[in-house]
Amino acid sequence: MTTPEPRPSAIVVGAGIVGIACAHYLKQAGLRVTVIDKGTVAGACSHANCGYICPSHVPPLTEPGAIRDALKSLFNPRSPFRVKPSLNPALLSWMWQFARRCNHGQMLAAGEHLQSILDASMAEYRRLIAQESLTCEWREDGLLYVFRSPAAMDAFADLDRLLTEHFGVSARRIAGQALHDFDAGLKQGLAGAFHYPGDTSVRPDLLNRAWADRLRAGGVRFIEQTELHDVARLDGRIDRLETSQGPLLADTYVFAMGAWSGHWSKRLDCRIPVQPGKGYSVTVARPADGPRFPMLFPEHKVGISPFEHGLRLGSMMEFAGYDATIPPRRIQQLRDSARPYLVAAVDGPPLETWYGWRPMTWDSLPIIGRTPRLKNAYLATGHNMLGLSLAPATGRLVAELVTGSPPHIPSEPFSPTRFVR
Ligand SMILES: Cc1cc2nc3c(=O)[nH]c(=O)nc-3n(C[C@H](O)[C@H](O)[C@H](O)COP(=O)(O)OP(=O)(O)OC[C@H]3O[C@@H](n4cnc5c(N)ncnc54)[C@H](O)[C@@H]3O)c2cc1C
Repeated sequence: MTTPEPRPSAIVVGAGIVGIACAHYLKQAGLRVTVIDKGTVAGACSHANCGYICPSHVPPLTEPGAIRDALKSLFNPRSPFRVKPSLNPALLSWMWQFARRCNHGQMLAAGEHLQSILDASMAEYRRLIAQESLTCEWREDGLLYVFRSPAAMDAFADLDRLLTEHFGVSARRIAGQALHDFDAGLKQGLAGAFHYPGDTSVRPDLLNRAWADRLRAGGVRFIEQTELHDVARLDGRIDRLETSQGPLLADTYVFAMGAWSGHWSKRLDCRIPVQPGKGYSVTVARPADGPRFPMLFPEHKVGISPFEHGLRLGSMMEFAGYDATIPPRRIQQLRDSARPYLVAAVDGPPLETWYGWRPMTWDSLPIIGRTPRLKNAYLATGHNMLGLSLAPATGRLVAELVTGSPPHIPSEPFSPTRFVR
């Protein structure tokens, strides 16, 4: 009798939503999977974000007006966007590359790639939620973009037209009084809103927990408080990981380290232009007269997420390195930004205040695929403002690339090889 070949193994470094999704699809492909994290499972950027799964977010950040808006914000201390002056060459190069892409042509091109992975992810989420019955406050209420001024509403109408005509993403326009009838949690007198019914939402911490628990029950090993210190390389491959708990070996290694990924360019022999883009959220008890729909206020750049037992306000984009403080003025600003729109008071004691470092790339696309020079090393990072929305298709694509199966979406736009000079 012959003994069966042991199943191939994979280690995923990083247990955020992207690492969890990679573990899911690698396990489904038949691999033995271990996930390590220097902190706790989904304790970083995936923990208290706004929870939108939003195929309507097709336009990338690299849009024509982005640089003008960024420059204006430098002189406004209350701007949700902030760049801390710095001579850090990696940040300066990131900014330069970002600025070069802020034109109509690049916006459409990046938008098309984003759309393929956004739509694929939504299809995966629907399958997952149905098959795995993950308890995570999954809601099919769409996403509402609410405007205070008619001018802002009209300006957004141009983008909405582009979304419909170029990307086939349609919204329902709700004007004036009809908006208050649609969601009585919104004040009367607002200009109106666009409702994108194809978007969904979850409570992110519940999704992370439910999904990781399901994987644990299926045999995936999660090892927390275990930091990757180094990778040992041999003959164009990774031989083992050196971690705070000793060496770890597998056949395949997936690096899903979110905003920390940029630190690993040298050791993985691959450019990884990821910068931390810091955002904040505050969650308060859900007011009885609070809004019913998940919504964004683009004029104030703040998102509102109603959960069963809480109301979350989230926003801001700061390029300030790995600053881990939560300034009270930023939390106050979140509340001040919501006040002109909401009937309910949002000044109650916080259930949670939080920050997260988004893994930002200068071309607005995630980095998914094999590193150019190490045969068994894969990246799954750079998901910008959409990591929750893009996680399932990312995990599926990683598993397909690892096992050599045909990818379900074109993989080239996301490949780390796009940064090879
Ligand atoms: C305010 C805010 C609102 C947002 N809202 C949304 C939203 O509504 N919808 C959406 O799609 N996205 C949203 N996002 C973006 C989303 O949260 C991120 O894109 C996503 O969480 C990134 O997931 P990740 O797994 O790549 O990173 P993380 O969740 O940060 O996970 C990376 C993990 O890697 C670990 N790690 C790093 N280095 C090491 C090491 N050396 N050794 C071991 N472990 C390591 C870290 O501890 C961490 O747990 C929001 C972000 C913010 C800040």
